Amino acid sequence: MLINGQLVAGAATLDVINPATGKLLTRCARADKAQLDAAVLAAKNAFPAWSTTPIEMRRQILLKVAAAFEARSGEFARLLTEEQGKPLAHAAYEIGGAVAMIRAFAAMDLPAKVLRENAVERIVQLHVPLGVVAAITPWNFPLILLMIKVAPALLAGNTIVAKPAPTTPLTTLLFGEMCAALLPPGVLNVIVDQNDLGGYLTQHPDVAKVAFTGSTATGKKVMASVAGTIKRLTLELGGNDAAIVLDDVDVKEVAAKVFHGAMVNSGQVCLAIKRVYVPDSMYDAMCEELAKLADAHVVGDGLDAATQMGPLQNKTQFEKVKEFLEDARLHGKVIAGGKALQRDGYFIPPTIVRDIPDSARLVMEEQFGPILPVLKYSNIDDAIARANSTEYGLGGTVWGKNSKRAFDVAQRIASGTVWVNKHLELPPDIPFGGAKQSGFDTEMGQEGLEEFTQSRVINIAK
Ligand code: NAD
Repeated sequence: MLINGQLVAGAATLDVINPATGKLLTRCARADKAQLDAAVLAAKNAFPAWSTTPIEMRRQILLKVAAAFEARSGEFARLLTEEQGKPLAHAAYEIGGAVAMIRAFAAMDLPAKVLRENAVERIVQLHVPLGVVAAITPWNFPLILLMIKVAPALLAGNTIVAKPAPTTPLTTLLFGEMCAALLPPGVLNVIVDQNDLGGYLTQHPDVAKVAFTGSTATGKKVMASVAGTIKRLTLELGGNDAAIVLDDVDVKEVAAKVFHGAMVNSGQVCLAIKRVYVPDSMYDAMCEELAKLADAHVVGDGLDAATQMGPLQNKTQFEKVKEFLEDARLHGKVIAGGKALQRDGYFIPPTIVRDIPDSARLVMEEQFGPILPVLKYSNIDDAIARANSTEYGLGGTVWGKNSKRAFDVAQRIASGTVWVNKHLELPPDIPFGGAKQSGFDTEMGQEGLEEFTQSRVINIAK
């Protein structure tokens, strides 16, 4: 782990499992409370110097981190596939995105803004850093979700304690190891737990902000735990995104895009398509196309070049998704996939389910796996109401040839992002955040950068 610029062993160790084999990949360091305290203290002590380092210098250091990261992208990608399970090409894509994220934030600025200037007064707004940021990440995109936090937090002048999910700690640890030579001691610290130190970190009195990505259930605990010290908080939580297909689309073309949006990363994407609403006139054709795509998809070890979809990331998620399969069999008609593969590792093939009621678990809850329920509608108002009927509001997609009509539908989806005729595009300069129980506040874009600052207004009499 990285604590105060030193690479240290853990107070204990943690077994890391390769999800493609279900077997031990390696053991890594695991922190205890004393090591977490040491990491927070190091970040606290590093804050005065880092926060007063000119932003130009912090920008240059971030660019050096991006260059070093890019130079080792092959090594990071392989390790990411081994610990996370995704196909190697997808892992490389994640690393590329993570590097681009650092560069995008390094290109941003936090200028003082003159809010009013006249004969009698001058009012200026500054954005000043907050202090120690706790960056807590999940296991589906361990690096890109870390960079969305680390890059803006550091550019703005904060220091960090990063804590990855315990089933994917290795790439975050490697990133910490790489940064040991590039950042002043204590500016970035990386610790690992076994799902036991998150609460201790979020309630820590010396942490000023928690930037959290994970499930809604854990997000609720985080929100409660920061209340004691009124910490700043960003919550990026779960989703149950609907795709609404309009009745003027080319079924084959849209089926391929919907399939990708539902199955990429084995469905373990907060913004994955988790339900698709299809007009009754094209319901059978769409189901058939989706099933064909599922049957042809190559599932396997992410290190095999032919693999299009890897395993579920961990055993707990594998078991959870198997429950959703059971629910799908019970309440709907499974037309592709449907059974975990009889092999080592946590493999579930792409599964398409039709004729399932809205009340089924697979429709109401976040499956976070490669199972897509296809739902029929006869009236667009009804489809929109059903799409909006869950506690989540992260993303959503609308598919239609008539762009005005598609835009009108998109405006009525109660979520933070809605794509029209595309999906999962998350440019670093565009703000991203959830509605309802998918979280609050923003990551990415200028707004995402300012979330790592405190507004300070200076109001001067002339
Ligand atoms: P999780 O909530 O179980 O874990 C996320 C992180 O929180 C891990 O690092 C975990 O160790 C830590 N944690 C556990 N208990 C904690 C506590 N009491 N206090 C503080 N931290 C604690 O989530 P997961 O299963 O790793 O990830 C999957 C979930 O993440 C899905 O619901 C998915 O939709 C969501 N997600 C959301 C986004 C987004 O941007 N909105 C992105 C990716 C994933």
